[in-house]
Amino acid sequence: MKKIVIAIDGWSSCGKSTLAKQLAKELGYIYIDSGAMYRAVTLYFLRNHVDWTNTSEVTEALTNINLQFKPNSVNGESEIYLNEENVEYVIRDMVVAEKVSEVAAIEEVRSFAVAEQQKMGAAKGIVMDGRDIGTTVFPDAELKIFMTADIAVRVERRFREMYSKNPNITIEEVKDNLEMRDYIDSHRKVSPLQKAADAIEINNTGLSPDEQLLLALKFIDKLIF
Ligand code: C5P
Repeated sequence: MKKIVIAIDGWSSCGKSTLAKQLAKELGYIYIDSGAMYRAVTLYFLRNHVDWTNTSEVTEALTNINLQFKPNSVNGESEIYLNEENVEYVIRDMVVAEKVSEVAAIEEVRSFAVAEQQKMGAAKGIVMDGRDIGTTVFPDAELKIFMTADIAVRVERRFREMYSKNPNITIEEVKDNLEMRDYIDSHRKVSPLQKAADAIEINNTGLSPDEQLLLALKFIDKLIF
């Protein structure tokens, strides 16, 4: 069986990570959540009061950041570590979500993350999800998927996810955050969110996780056998 690179891009909360995790499990591939890397950098900047409008502060701060993915000892799912600390859960907080797109638009931050991501994918057998995976990180990926879903469905999904951790959160806050991130992500100068010309599009508004997996596997079968 041939090992390939699977790049999944799309709007916030449209099921990218669900599909990426399912595919990694099914194929025995590594799963990398590239958004977690931008979130972890943002967490570091917030905790260390880095002024990210100042390029030399950003460059200096990035030299002190080490990001790694390690499997969870119970369910085997990959989790992100910032300088050896497991930050998989804390990076999902609204405090980070409010600033991550601003930080992810910084050229130096993107070069740092993209270089790490390209190293991780050098041996193939990887599924990575994000906003620029098929366009910038792996422009030669054998399979590129661009995911979309109706905004109402996306808000509902993210709200349910966040509410379980923070019952004070409101649906309006979640909607505003998704819309703000989608806007910044698709309008920034460096690697804006775009559908790669050779990406297949999956709109999963009416699809269950199993249905979306079957759909993606149909495309993959043709590439690996
Ligand atoms: O995927 P997730 O929603 O966790 O990503 C958080 C943020 O990280 C996005 O809104 C975007 O600003 C940024 N991001 C990015 N490029 C990627 C992945 C995420 O700019 N490849």
